[in-house]
Amino acid sequence: MDLSFGDADLAFQREVRDWFATHTPDALRRKAVSGQMLVREEIVRWQRTLDERGFLVVDWPQEHGGPGWTPTQRYLYDIERAAANAPVGLSMGVIMLGPVLMAFGTEEQKTRYLPRIRRCEDWWCQGYSEPGAGSDLAALACSAVRDGDDYVINGSKIWTTYAHWATHMFCLVRTAKTGRKQEGISFLLIEMDRPGIELRPIVSIDGEHHLNQVFFTDLRVPRGNLVGQEGQGWEIAKYLLTHERTSIAGVADSKAALASLLRAAGQRGWGGRPLADDAAMALRLARAEIDLLALEYTNLRVLSATAAGKAPGPESSLLKLMGTTVQQTLSELALEVGAELAWPWHSGGPLAASDHAHAMERYAFLRACTIYGGSDEVQKSVLAKSILAPSAGR
Ligand SMILES: Cc1cc2nc3c(=O)[nH]c(=O)nc-3n(C[C@H](O)[C@H](O)[C@H](O)COP(=O)(O)OP(=O)(O)OC[C@H]3O[C@@H](n4cnc5c(N)ncnc54)[C@H](O)[C@@H]3O)c2cc1C
Repeated sequence: MDLSFGDADLAFQREVRDWFATHTPDALRRKAVSGQMLVREEIVRWQRTLDERGFLVVDWPQEHGGPGWTPTQRYLYDIERAAANAPVGLSMGVIMLGPVLMAFGTEEQKTRYLPRIRRCEDWWCQGYSEPGAGSDLAALACSAVRDGDDYVINGSKIWTTYAHWATHMFCLVRTAKTGRKQEGISFLLIEMDRPGIELRPIVSIDGEHHLNQVFFTDLRVPRGNLVGQEGQGWEIAKYLLTHERTSIAGVADSKAALASLLRAAGQRGWGGRPLADDAAMALRLARAEIDLLALEYTNLRVLSATAAGKAPGPESSLLKLMGTTVQQTLSELALEVGAELAWPWHSGGPLAASDHAHAMERYAFLRACTIYGGSDEVQKSVLAKSILAPSAGR
């Protein structure tokens, strides 16, 4: 892994910095700083802006529109984007389904879906979890039975993020009930406007509606919507999860959050002293910074391997585990530092109540980040089996 910054890298860094400085809409920047969620239209618009500049599908190969950056450039891009408080543009199509179609899809599926993912013409949601299958995903029961040229789907998916915004779902279904449970799983693409789909909202602890339960009743899906072979769904699901977990780590955004936290903690606090001078707070900030630095280097190793054409391996579990722990720690510190700055006597005046409310909302939402994409306990098991005792995992 070569991380030295040559003249070309520094020029690239300036170019990215300038672009985000001039193209990030203020409304989005403000939302990113305070940790507010973007609405669908904002995400779609921002994603299209990024795509026009070649800054959206940054991990895709060049033949599908990726920029072909070196790991150093990829790293610099992320750092500059996050430092400009530009949102990452959450897209399950870009991060998860795109790489899956490139690896397992037919030529027709690639030609049909990849350009639409880039343009955000289709909004994809992820139909993996079920009421009886979360950590034990292979226990999923949602059934797909062949009938002529269609599959007939019956069952339910739960915790489906933004299913109410989605035009499509990539979904794990059970096509066989005999043999090992993993072997009876297939990966299907579902259009959400078909008859036989019902959505029920789930409001989470932050008071927002991101999540849904989705019910399928005799839903017909063309057999041509199968990705890979029948029974290959488990292999595809695991491949997709490595991409999902790597992206959840959010290293660059945590670096930006830490920088803003350190600035805030350096302001005059109770008794005229900055909060950062308090020994206990200084220790916690330093610990968060050290954890983040260690995470950053692991991220770089994964980036480097991905750029060399390898799919992220078990390191993605390490990134997910550590990245989400750091995100939670930073959100806790942000609440405490924010509360200090909210005192009416504070030199900068009281923090806007709405800013503090958003810090609270973010803190609440991030309780879930050690669950989604696979819980902490599950990541630890993956690491134990694949890195610490690989022979036990076979
Ligand atoms: C905000 C949010 C968004 C989500 N978005 C999506 C989405 O878009 N699409 C989707 O398909 N899913 C989504 N999920 C679901 C998520 O992937 C599951 O919640 C997660 O995999 C855990 O499954 P579960 O909720 O069924 O908990 P369970 O599997 O029932 O686990 C409960 C607890 O038991 C522990 N546990 C379970 N098994 C073991 C074990 N073998 N060893 C040790 N501990 C264990 C877990 O760590 C956890 O603490 C989302 C979840 C959340 C919270």
